[in-house]
Amino acid sequence: MKVPFALPDITQQEVDAVALTVASGWLTSGKVMKDFEQDFEGRYPGTGAVAVNSATAGLHLVLEALGVRPGDEVIVPSMTFTATAEVVRYMGAVPVLCDVNPESGCLTLNSIRAVQSDKTVGVIPVHFAGLAMDIAPITAYARKRGWFVVEDAAHAIGAELNGVPVGAMASDATVFSFYATKCITTGEGGMVLSRDQRILERIRVMRLHGIDRDAFNRYQSGKPAWEYDIIAPGFKYNMTDVAAAMGRVQLSRMEEMRLARERIALRYSNELSRSVHTPHWSMLFDNKHQHAHHLYQVGVADRDRFIEVMFSKGVGCSVHFKPLHLMEYWARNPGSVRGEYPGAETRFGRMVSIPIYSAMTEDQVDHVVLSVKEAEYATR
Ligand SMILES: *Cc1c(COP(=O)(O)O)cnc(C)c1O
Repeated sequence: MKVPFALPDITQQEVDAVALTVASGWLTSGKVMKDFEQDFEGRYPGTGAVAVNSATAGLHLVLEALGVRPGDEVIVPSMTFTATAEVVRYMGAVPVLCDVNPESGCLTLNSIRAVQSDKTVGVIPVHFAGLAMDIAPITAYARKRGWFVVEDAAHAIGAELNGVPVGAMASDATVFSFYATKCITTGEGGMVLSRDQRILERIRVMRLHGIDRDAFNRYQSGKPAWEYDIIAPGFKYNMTDVAAAMGRVQLSRMEEMRLARERIALRYSNELSRSVHTPHWSMLFDNKHQHAHHLYQVGVADRDRFIEVMFSKGVGCSVHFKPLHLMEYWARNPGSVRGEYPGAETRFGRMVSIPIYSAMTEDQVDHVVLSVKEAEYATR
């Protein structure tokens, strides 16, 4: 039996919505993108939503709007995807890598303290694997120092802590990803949520070439107005209506898909905890946390051989992530040498991500459970 590591969950509803948009003749950013943004604003009251063509673009726009400058330092966990750090480099600033808690995969106040300096201007915490981390102590610490906090929530749409969803927590902005493997997808896409009108206004202009919005709105208002103004050298980061059409259906199915992943996570935790290290029950299933279950990671004795055996049984696995400080480019980054990374390295040495997605069949889940037990037994 074949079980790919990840597959999107696309129904006829998504297919129909995309077909309707394509047939409408309006392909790029328009009404459907605005409707998608309004869906988010309805779900996260008090925030403004700006749709973009990736989470990477969204993070970049937020840092630009916050005025990050060359020489500034921004604290980023080493245990993340390279996008979280590369956007800091886009601004000419230095991503300073910090360690993470080995159990949660998330950065902590202590890991921030270990690498901060008088050049620090902000922090980008990552809600790792779909765990809604408690950012309150971090925002409190940051506010006192005049730093910003931007949440990388690429893994965590639908996650909650104490009833507060990721996206409604008290930070400067939250960025979701709709990449093909993420909890909801538009193929490529992202969404920025913020309560700060200045950030929202700036990123709405900068996602589309720096075109002055008032003039652009005039242009769209049906009057024969041809003139617009450019107020800054902006970017090409807008989301298409085709992507947004898929996203609106995916968002409406978000909780249904999350619950399907939760059922799989529950089976894994119940059936695998005697064979491999499974995530702490409290992180995944207690009544404080609603986990997004984007990744399910197990700790094994011999990671590389385990993945090979799983592959031979038809099961795709992955590693999230090789820590950035071990990557050729980031190892040379001046912001990588200050920290020590025992938490990130412990995780990297033993954790394997096994398949978890709502399009998995019962038989596939059974096959993964059996394969994990056999692979760990064979490689111990
Ligand atoms: C996927 C991912 C991103 C980037 O998302 P894109 O939409 O592909 O740009 C950023 N951060 C983390 C932690 C991710 O996993």
